[in-house]
Amino acid sequence: ALLTLNYAQRRVFSPLIKARTLILDLSRSSNHWTDEMNMTTKGEFLSLFEAIDRLQRMLQQRDAFEFQLKNIANTDPLTGVSNRLALSEYLKIVESYPQKFTQTCLMIIDIDRFKQVNDQYGHIVGDHVIVSIAEQLKQNIRSSDLIVRYGGDEFLILLEQVQFVDARLLAEKIRMAISLEEIGLSGSDEKLHVSVSIGFAIGAASWIELLEQADRSLLRAKARGRNAVEG
Ligand code: GH3
Ligand code: MG
Repeated sequence: ALLTLNYAQRRVFSPLIKARTLILDLSRSSNHWTDEMNMTTKGEFLSLFEAIDRLQRMLQQRDAFEFQLKNIANTDPLTGVSNRLALSEYLKIVESYPQKFTQTCLMIIDIDRFKQVNDQYGHIVGDHVIVSIAEQLKQNIRSSDLIVRYGGDEFLILLEQVQFVDARLLAEKIRMAISLEEIGLSGSDEKLHVSVSIGFAIGAASWIELLEQADRSLLRAKARGRNAVEG
């Protein structure tokens, strides 16, 4: 009996008491209480359950804060789509899949003659055009697809498990929607029309290979006279 009691004392009660003290200390660390102030003199009694509850709330707040920070750091401030940092995180995930990039579809969407828009209307209108293109892309993709602002007037869309015909249809739909859109200019009745060229590729041995393939498709679309899709 003594041995059992001793065992229970060492293996069960002691660790439990230590854990309780630790939880109470941790939960108090969020308060302005100092070590010297003891709870009884403050006239407060903090039960273990209250302490756990308090800890849980602290952790939830920290998680929410971390989530916000992560999102701020990974989002393009102008358009709200993902930035290159988010892309590199996404690529790490795909890289860890057994099939790697063999099933990934990459689309590169580049605004046609965008420099002229800036030159003719100024950079504020240029920014407005970039935002409206991003909105069109958001409206045309599934929640599982990723849109990235890759360069100034260049966006990427990454899609998993999509057939060639469906990728072409989607790219055409995006190209058409953008070419038909009338972009309003503030303080004027004039409507602006822009177009995009889209190059896409599906499946490659590596990310770089996939990017090169889609880039070559984009060059072909530009060479065809722009406002075109190539894959
Ligand atoms: P192409 O049809 O061959 O793509 O011609 P382009 O004029 O679109 O190509 P180019 O790469 O020469 O021009 C891209 C322009 O995008 C140049 C740069 O001033 C502009 N740009 C890049 N980032 C931004 C941005 O954040 N806002 C605005 N307003 N313009 C930007
Ligand atoms: Mg361009």
